[in-house]
Amino acid sequence: MSDAASTGETCTATTCPYCGVGCGVNATLAADGKVTIAGDKEHPANFGRLCSKGTHLGETVSLDDRLLHPEIRGQQASWNDALDLVASKFRAAIDEHGPDSVAFYVSGQLLTEDYYVANKLMKGFIGSANIDTNSRLCMASSVAGHKRAFGTDTVPGLYEDLEQADMIVLVGTNLAWCHPVLYQRMQAARKERGTRTVVIDPRRTATAETADMHLAIQPGSDVALFNGLLSWLAQNGGFDGAYIADHTAGVAEALRTAEPATIECVAARCGLTVDQITAFYQMFARTERTVTVYSQGVNQSTAGTDKVNAIINCHLATGRIGRPGMGPFSVTGQPNAMGGRETGGLANQLTCHLELDDPAHRDLVQTFWRAPAMPDVAGLKAVDLFDAVADGRIKALWIMATNPAVSLPDADRVRDAIKSCDFVAVSDVTRATDTAALADVLLPAQAWGEKDGTVTNSERRISRQRSFLPIPEDVRSDWWMIGQVAARLGFGDAFAYEGPADIFREYARLTVAANENLDRDLDLGALAAVTDAEYDAMAPTLWPQRAGTQESEGRFFAEGGFFTPDRRGRFIAVEDRAPAAATDIAHPFVLNTGRIRDQWHTMTRTGLSPSLSQHLSEPFLEIAPADADRLGLSPAALVRVTSPYGDCLVRALITDRVQPGQVFMPMHWNDQWSGRARVDALVAPNVDPVSGQPEAKYTPVSVTPFAAGFYAFAASTERPDTTGTDYWTLARAADGWRVEMAGAGRPADWMAWALGVLGLSRDAADIQIVSSEDRAGGGYRMAAYRGDVLIGAVFAAAQPVAVDRAWLTGRLGDTVKAAASRAALLAGRRGVDKKDPGAIVCTCMFVGANDIRRAIAEEGCTTVDAVGACTGAGITCGSCRPEIEVLLADAALKEAS
Ligand code: SF4
Repeated sequence: MSDAASTGETCTATTCPYCGVGCGVNATLAADGKVTIAGDKEHPANFGRLCSKGTHLGETVSLDDRLLHPEIRGQQASWNDALDLVASKFRAAIDEHGPDSVAFYVSGQLLTEDYYVANKLMKGFIGSANIDTNSRLCMASSVAGHKRAFGTDTVPGLYEDLEQADMIVLVGTNLAWCHPVLYQRMQAARKERGTRTVVIDPRRTATAETADMHLAIQPGSDVALFNGLLSWLAQNGGFDGAYIADHTAGVAEALRTAEPATIECVAARCGLTVDQITAFYQMFARTERTVTVYSQGVNQSTAGTDKVNAIINCHLATGRIGRPGMGPFSVTGQPNAMGGRETGGLANQLTCHLELDDPAHRDLVQTFWRAPAMPDVAGLKAVDLFDAVADGRIKALWIMATNPAVSLPDADRVRDAIKSCDFVAVSDVTRATDTAALADVLLPAQAWGEKDGTVTNSERRISRQRSFLPIPEDVRSDWWMIGQVAARLGFGDAFAYEGPADIFREYARLTVAANENLDRDLDLGALAAVTDAEYDAMAPTLWPQRAGTQESEGRFFAEGGFFTPDRRGRFIAVEDRAPAAATDIAHPFVLNTGRIRDQWHTMTRTGLSPSLSQHLSEPFLEIAPADADRLGLSPAALVRVTSPYGDCLVRALITDRVQPGQVFMPMHWNDQWSGRARVDALVAPNVDPVSGQPEAKYTPVSVTPFAAGFYAFAASTERPDTTGTDYWTLARAADGWRVEMAGAGRPADWMAWALGVLGLSRDAADIQIVSSEDRAGGGYRMAAYRGDVLIGAVFAAAQPVAVDRAWLTGRLGDTVKAAASRAALLAGRRGVDKKDPGAIVCTCMFVGANDIRRAIAEEGCTTVDAVGACTGAGITCGSCRPEIEVLLADAALKEAS
């Protein structure tokens, strides 16, 4: 941290709390409390870059919606009372029903130190392995695939491999939106060395738009594609015989399983042409420096682990692993998914990449911890864990920093299960989550900017998250709460930590112990004796950091040395399997789920940012034009999406980005932000048999038009009241809120309804209303002023409302005196002399799609940089550059045709 005494500012180097890229952030806190965010030029993950989410972190650190005191059943309580109650409920359940009657459900949001302590309490002292993490939903299949092939959960490569590769295959990963800084690094390298990219994804994502080749495979056909590649490589001299012979085992069986697939069969199964498949296989075979990047599109499948191994098989066969610009590369969705994996946050593994089902490993950890108990069987994985909550086997549950009522498959059932559990504690930074609403006890946790500890990113780099904000008086760290409950359960001595550095040292010492008789990948020996000051100053550090070494070894497996008993990497024979559920007449569409560019997880943080809410402010269903035609959907119509598990009501987005028969919905929205848009309420609880990861990318659904009697849009300085509205979606604006609404039946009294939405009374003396009603067309417009200040506006119509939303929300708080100006405001559009920017593309500079189209058409811009120079779009964080490229390509296509 550096102090600028003259200005009263402090600048702290910390780490972004969103995706697994793990970018370094310099957070400057001004004397007036304002937070300014900049990318850390020294951080090796991002070298100063940030995406839109990281750039707008400063908008998310207010105390709005924060949980600031412990609560017991909705009433503020003391820490003592709250912790006593948690401990007594856990103790009672353990005494009466055994240790497996309690569980922790934790999160990739926890810091490594929190994870370590939670895992230690559950596995070593309570004596159950019932601790699982929301990372189960994100990358458990990668963990399982790594362990099967490498003997440990080792990520072999580094981010710089994406800059040193000549070919990058991106499988089931929309890197441009989900790991934007990694995408930017890749794009910059492409410019320099001409790296070719191949995107394998059923959707034409932002990443696919800029790729050299897009293979829009049928959902779930990845194993067929990579088995076909393995087979083709074998038949066409693509194998590295020396590497296979010296460092691997199992190639014959893997090939036997893969080989029946002819290229024609693969093409038919994947929904591609023989030419497309051949071109991909040839490019892969010819390109030594190839990296295959994959994430949730591979992992979130009932064949997720097999997909991972099908990819790894091809890299083992070509010996392309652990060398510059080569290797399979799993990128994680959460800031500390890797830290959780390292400290044993998954129910089926021990800390330090040790195994629960290995007696030597259990002994080692138990001895090190001086633990009274150590389970010898795996605990319940996430979906099974909530099944056990539903059927009463789990009597006491502690949910830390996550929102399973939204993010678990069959989410309505999960919500009911949590509601029915005998005792539920939730520790979180906010009470405004669907899960927190169900808790018996709420424990206020430190938020990003207050927390202090470490996280590990997707390339095994440990970085510090440092505290730079004043910590609210009654808010505590997660590790402290866990330690306090441990003490009340009688284990105080083992949890008497003085701070996160103390915990980190113990964890690092355990990695050393784990390497004494066992040769392991994870070793933090060089950090086992860091002082508090050294820990505070710790620079981003790759592991392993073995004692006596200065530098990490960097990559793994170039010369073999796998962590299997014979030190050979394993080919895994994998068969192509269909997804668990199939479409039928009642559910003819395949639903895919995923992230959007500017929101993260269940919006508990990004939802607070007005800037981020400008990009895509509503939940939507992408549906192909042919399907929309067949269903009679017009643009912006509302649709009900139904699966055997639940239903959602969202806006239709008609686009050829999805193939006919497939639809896509974002994963972020929940009951805090929309009436019925929790996509995981639709998703079946089908899981991969090895990893336990749910199949979130393949849900058979039906889509039916919603017969709306009216549509409405409102902007308000106060949070609008949407009670009784069939469809609503809220978003933050700079000076208030914006909300989209719709209902089956029109309100009988428009003004009464609109006043209700704005939370105003018709009789309030200081409120002035200007309104107009179009009785013939069924429309209504109203603006409300307190004195001369605009405090709200409501626009309703029989069709989707056509007003300039960004302009209207920007008027909130304006003084509007003249009657003519007030009447003009009811037009819902800026004056004819001012141009409509269109849908906001660049949230840093607030540049819309229309602005960019004008720059292309009127100013002659032909490159992203030229558009940036002309409009300012894409020159700050760069997250919108793929969308600018698409607009440029559209314009070029129009001109050519
Ligand atoms: Fe944060 Fe964006 Fe970097 Fe991910 S890519 S860590 S969200 S700044």
